[in-house]
Amino acid sequence: MIKDHLYEEKNNFVHHSMLPSKKEQTGGISQDMLLDQDIESQYRYIDQLCQTQTVSDDEMKVLFMAEHPQVLEYLYQKARKVREAHYGNKVYTRGLIEFTNYCRNNCYYCGIRRDNLHAERYRLGEEEICKCADEGYVLGFRTFVLQGGEDGAYTKKSLGNVIRRIKTSHPDCAVTLSFGEWDYETYQYWHECGADRYLLRHETASEVHYALLHPDEMSFVRRRQCLQWLKEAGYQTGAGFMTGSPGQTTDTLQPDLRYLEQLQPHMAGIGPFLPQHETPFASQPAGSLHMTLKLLAVLRLMFPKILLPATTALGTLHEKGREMGILAGANVIMPNLSPKSVREKYQLYDNKVISGDESAQEVRRLASHMRAIGYDICYERGDSLMTEC
Ligand code: SAH
Repeated sequence: MIKDHLYEEKNNFVHHSMLPSKKEQTGGISQDMLLDQDIESQYRYIDQLCQTQTVSDDEMKVLFMAEHPQVLEYLYQKARKVREAHYGNKVYTRGLIEFTNYCRNNCYYCGIRRDNLHAERYRLGEEEICKCADEGYVLGFRTFVLQGGEDGAYTKKSLGNVIRRIKTSHPDCAVTLSFGEWDYETYQYWHECGADRYLLRHETASEVHYALLHPDEMSFVRRRQCLQWLKEAGYQTGAGFMTGSPGQTTDTLQPDLRYLEQLQPHMAGIGPFLPQHETPFASQPAGSLHMTLKLLAVLRLMFPKILLPATTALGTLHEKGREMGILAGANVIMPNLSPKSVREKYQLYDNKVISGDESAQEVRRLASHMRAIGYDICYERGDSLMTEC
């Protein structure tokens, strides 16, 4: 039972591995050397974040460095309180349909990049995608996320037909797209066809860091332009980034959060970078669990009403990663609805979990794990409360 691994404090659960071990703390600096003063300021900045939803650049960096177990517990507890004030103890579910792993792009971190000649490519046809959604509907899902590499085999019209069909069969459902960069007219058209939401992580808000993660043919400016277009076209829009991607530092994370402040997205996708063996970043270290949890909590405090998924990457990094994400302020989970035969082929990173709680078919098991930490999975459409954006 998961509860055995948790300890309870004032009706709040914290997983013991949400707190760094002595060894992991402060990059080798012993906690004993941390001045009480530093810890005091971290508590103060967390309170400030709760009250004003923002802190200065320097204060933000001090918060990124927080590693004292009691400070982190305090941060997670505050994040849970804020999400509970807006979303109660509901965890929204989305059925994820990974409909193609063909991609015209060559992102250095991504396993389905164009130059990965060992990726076994697949694409689902209109019929198959709709069948996944039908199956998901029976399982109880009311949001379908269509995610894929940027695959030109789907035209504006053909993907539009898929969206229309899903919305016609299931008018009470939301359709979310996560399909990369297209032009304004295309985004607009898909929105007219019925797509409600769009996830497009900005990946990094530092231009120099962006150039480290992507080949020259990919444009930092265009990515941000697309996010702007998505908002203009009327989507509930999601941005976000990986934690611990090669080259990421507190100097790149700080602009990431400022960019989100400026964009005011309805959703934010934050998950650890995980290496994939056929990419140029094969031997780079994975992002850390603790940094990811810390960022989820900070985001919850900065954007109280944001939709914040506990990602598959977090579930891959740690067996209880998703539960820990929820306990750090996340409120969305996206189990996999793709046909079982293709799940393994959609390998953005190595060792992706595809069974158990990750599988839409095992949603009851996921529900019992969420129940064990005091949360209820919820089958509503789960729109963002940030409607004023
Ligand atoms: N092509 C689409 C969606 C698929 S990729 C797009 O560009 O948005 C979805 C997200 O997976 C990316 O935005 C990236 O942040 C994340 N991702 C890709 N490779 C990853 C890796 N190796 N580790 C963790 N996350 C990764």
